[in-house]
Amino acid sequence: DAKKAVIAAAIRVIPDFPKKGIMFQDVSTLLLDPAAFQASIDLFVEQYRPKDIQVIAGFEARGFIFGPPVALALGVPFVMLRKPGKLPGETVGEEYITEYSTDKIEIHTGAIKPGQRVLLIDDLVATGGTLLAGANLVRKVGGVVVEAAAVIELPDLKGRQKLGDLPLFTLIDVE
Ligand code: IMP
Repeated sequence: DAKKAVIAAAIRVIPDFPKKGIMFQDVSTLLLDPAAFQASIDLFVEQYRPKDIQVIAGFEARGFIFGPPVALALGVPFVMLRKPGKLPGETVGEEYITEYSTDKIEIHTGAIKPGQRVLLIDDLVATGGTLLAGANLVRKVGGVVVEAAAVIELPDLKGRQKLGDLPLFTLIDVE
């Protein structure tokens, strides 16, 4: 559709970043284009308005860009899933493996209440390791993970399969 075409056209591809052989999908150029950025938020809001989402949890760093506008549109809290040592309060963590390295994410204790219906948002799903770790972390603190969402999906890396029963909603595929 027209919105997806606008989004796809606004994403820049940078070869060999952060290392040789990786075609990096750069959303910084999407953010330079208000119509394209707005289109991405509109598509998320359209998808999630009917789904009774109670909390949006976004991943550092680029999940912090796409999550908050959707949270404000839905009128629900936004929760940060951060890299280790960044959150000042008491935290719970989850380790995971990414396309590039081993990593860990943390959440503030009490940010999600047991039984709350949570949507996970990031900019891009590659292997699915990050979204899966987020789902595991949210479940660890008692949240119900309803769905995971990203602007870009790299279908070749089979992240969708890694998430198993957790539905994944993405705006554009990049081969
Ligand atoms: P995964 O855990 O393998 O699915 O990798 C997804 C995570 O790595 C997300 O948090 C993305 O922000 C980041 N990532 C991996 N590849 C790219 C890329 O090409 N562009 C932007 N972010 C990427």
